[in-house]
Amino acid sequence: MPSEFDLIEKFFTRPPRAGSAVLLGVGDDCALFAPESGMQLAVSSDMLVAGRHFFPDADPFFLGHKSLAVNLSDLAAMGARPLAFTLALSLPEANESWLSAFSQGLLQLADRFDCQLVGGDTTRGPLNICITIFGEIAAIDALRRDGARVGDDIWVSGTLGDARLALAALQQDVALDTGELRSAKERLDAPQPRVALGLALRGVATSAIDISDGLTGDLGHILKRSYVGARLDADSLPIGSALARQPLELQHRFALAGGDDYELCFTAPVTMRDKVHAASQTAKVSVTRVGAIEAEPGLRLFDAHGTPMSLTLSAFDHFAS
Ligand code: ADP
Ligand code: MG
Repeated sequence: MPSEFDLIEKFFTRPPRAGSAVLLGVGDDCALFAPESGMQLAVSSDMLVAGRHFFPDADPFFLGHKSLAVNLSDLAAMGARPLAFTLALSLPEANESWLSAFSQGLLQLADRFDCQLVGGDTTRGPLNICITIFGEIAAIDALRRDGARVGDDIWVSGTLGDARLALAALQQDVALDTGELRSAKERLDAPQPRVALGLALRGVATSAIDISDGLTGDLGHILKRSYVGARLDADSLPIGSALARQPLELQHRFALAGGDDYELCFTAPVTMRDKVHAASQTAKVSVTRVGAIEAEPGLRLFDAHGTPMSLTLSAFDHFAS
């Protein structure tokens, strides 16, 4: 039976990367690293609990990927550059093949974003994965939730709703063909954090948030913090490719209040439209204008003809059809 230290050594310890911000990584009492001079640390934690955020038998490679992806997505939503992260892991057993796949999914994504695992904690218990991530940003550049202004456009990156569609298919609420299921499940299992877009939007966007709980709920956080309201045009929402083949009502429901999208929702002045498109090209991810910030508090939804649509969001929480 390998000890806790053997497991950490084998799966979570790697040689320091040249030129990185990390001076001392896994293995000492603390890790040591520093942002570049003049920059601030951006810090965020996310916990993934078996049975609540993922199925207990979830593929460990994708679980490793997603655990870090959701944290990178928070840095993206702040416009911060990833530096390092810690991993607090509670495991029911020391299953080496599980740990191997998990650490591969985790560390491959970490390498892609040059974000080093610098420490953590490992204990026995119900499967639970908690990552704290550190990024850097100049204070003036931070894409906070309280910066939206009346008249700003509301934008969304990528497409929405396919992760929620995959969940509905896994719960046998919706039938998908093999190709649709594969592409939807990829959105659920392997979200791609929009770090490059967040960086490119510094000085362009007035506010940003990542969409983890559904567009309307997450946009709602921006509205509340910024003391504004908004209109959304339901027919302009960028719908995921698998979801686009479902009935319109379901498209709207999952795109507006699905969850697990890990796209960015951000606001920017109308005069910044060209710069938003330039940021989208730099980051190689599409962006779509979906509405506008208004003075009147609350969120209003319209169809393509400008007719108000009802927004009974509580009904979106549980899929029923
Ligand atoms: P301590 O006794 O100080 O809590 P630990 O014995 O828990 O230290 O951990 C030893 C070293 O291994 C520390 O540097 C810690 O940051 C690191 N570590 C523990 N668990 C993990 C993990 N899951 N991933 C990365 N590093 C870890
Ligand atoms: Mg410890």
